[in-house]
Amino acid sequence: MFQRILLPFLLAAALLAGLSALFAKANFAKKTEAANAVPPTIVLDAGHGGEDGGAVSESGILEKELNLAIAKRLETLLTANGFHVLMTRTEDEMLYDKNADYQGRKKVLDLAARRKIAEETPNCVFVSIHMNAYPDARYDGLQVWYSPNNPASKSIANTVQETVQSLLQPENDRQTKAATSAIYLLHHLAVPAVLVECGFLSNPAEAEKLNTPEYQERLALVLALAIGNVCRNIALSGI
Ligand SMILES: [Zn+2]
Repeated sequence: MFQRILLPFLLAAALLAGLSALFAKANFAKKTEAANAVPPTIVLDAGHGGEDGGAVSESGILEKELNLAIAKRLETLLTANGFHVLMTRTEDEMLYDKNADYQGRKKVLDLAARRKIAEETPNCVFVSIHMNAYPDARYDGLQVWYSPNNPASKSIANTVQETVQSLLQPENDRQTKAATSAIYLLHHLAVPAVLVECGFLSNPAEAEKLNTPEYQERLALVLALAIGNVCRNIALSGI
């Protein structure tokens, strides 16, 4: 019920924020003619794909499919709000070069290809979409990781985590975490970069919820609102 009442307001808020940012941007540009008032390109990375299914729920729901479904919804919402979005993948595939000698190196080449896309996109923010899994099935809720290489990463992660707590998961008081070398992309990327673990596939109830179009859209809306706001702030402050 909470979310049903909230959704129309959220959508309106997102659209209004988009409109007000357009005005703010116009004024800002008029006053300063700063080139950095252009919001960053958002590189959306749906984790895993193809032979790499990622985590899997007890009932057989594959992480790679949820990641892509949510990334695509996010792309639609952010594009509708005027952002330039680049997807690392739009199909069910790994990103290694199928013509190269990839024997035993598919995962390494796949991650390198995602890294290259971010590194070759000027003025970008990298957002990777994943699902969590843990041996203890009781854990649930969204968790955001940030790259320690760029100071903007932590504030993006905090904005996403806090927005999710205030609009979608009031009981979720997780703190954002700095990525270690275990998260290859966040460990290596120099651009602002975060990884969103949308929920736990190891929790049967959350896995089923994540697999519904309604929850995917609700989650995408909250993520789009947070990411959109943070990218406008980056543009206006010229970080
Ligand atoms: Zn994953």
